[in-house]
Amino acid sequence: MSKILVTGGAGFIGSHLCERLLAEGNEVYCLDNFFTGQRRNIKHLLTNKNFTLIEHDIIDPFYLDLPIDQVYNLACPASPVHYQQNPIRTVKANTKGMINMLGLAKAKKARLLQASTSEVYGDPEVHPQPENYKGSVNCLGPRACYDEGKRVAETLCMDYHREHNLDLRLVRIFNTYGPRMHPDDGRVVSNFILQALRHQPITIYGDGSHTRSFCFVDDNVEGLIRMMNQSKETGPVNIGNPDEVTMSELANQVIKLIGTSSKTVYKKLPEDDPKRRQPDITKAKELLDWQPTTPLQVGLTKTIAYFQTLVDPAA
Ligand code: NAD
Ligand code: UDP
Repeated sequence: MSKILVTGGAGFIGSHLCERLLAEGNEVYCLDNFFTGQRRNIKHLLTNKNFTLIEHDIIDPFYLDLPIDQVYNLACPASPVHYQQNPIRTVKANTKGMINMLGLAKAKKARLLQASTSEVYGDPEVHPQPENYKGSVNCLGPRACYDEGKRVAETLCMDYHREHNLDLRLVRIFNTYGPRMHPDDGRVVSNFILQALRHQPITIYGDGSHTRSFCFVDDNVEGLIRMMNQSKETGPVNIGNPDEVTMSELANQVIKLIGTSSKTVYKKLPEDDPKRRQPDITKAKELLDWQPTTPLQVGLTKTIAYFQTLVDPAA
């Protein structure tokens, strides 16, 4: 049994990670400030004797009077709508907050896994994106608080690793979806599903040709845990699903699966919206023997069932 701190543990990915770590018999400390996390995500874990909720903001210093073996650092708003709501706080979470969590891991001699992102590649000129691609980020745009924030967070991680010998694991997560996504996060999967369930217009930004590659959350969590528990490499390692789809294709799949009367409408593209995104997961396959196993249709069906319970709790 390990003692594991999961920051952002009440969020979408964090809550699935806490659940899985508890199921494997670990003692889990879930730290969250509930900015985008939801209490309903972890409600079922509160009665587990191995689960402790700590309400705290990583931007403020944090001390724990306990030994800790591992830290998964997920605390940061992840959707463009949320991270642009208070961009300065997003930068702070990735700088002050990152330093606080690195300092904690150093003091506890714990291994720290940083949840970085495909956004470090920006609007990529290389496709698919391997880990050695250095990225194309507009440091002046509205996405920069997150993209540049996560880039400097990676830099801080590497500096703590080199300067203090911190035991580090770096993971670059690509678009992940599944039950417990925040209904107001404005992300494409949650937007399309909710719009379809409510028979409202499905909002495609741009002409529908932009692409993303969607990884189901269970596959993502498996990748994070495998990366944390291997001892060969610091990373970074891409964790994502290489199956690339256009937003038009995604809209059609959601419409078909839900059988909605919704029609697609076209809206202005957000500034700096990356045109294409697809992970090169060669490294994850070789190092972790990991690849996603959930087809998009299966993952979407599970996600639709979750959102159905929010739209119509009696169903
Ligand atoms: P999420 O917004 O659901 O979860 C983030 C959690 O962190 C929330 O519970 C939130 O309340 C908490 N949080 C935010 N700022 C905090 C702070 N200052 N102090 C304490 N807690 C704070 O997002 P998610 O999709 O679960 O993403 C989790 C992590 O994975 C994030 O770091 C994100 O950048 C990374 N990631 C996610 C995706 C994705 O597609 N979901 C893709 C790439 C990277
Ligand atoms: N998108 C869309 N309609 C929506 C929400 C998003 O067409 O209602 C597009 C968005 O412009 C982008 C893609 O879907 O091209 C993925 O957006 P999301 O916010 O989910 O993630 P990210 O851009 O961070 O990958």
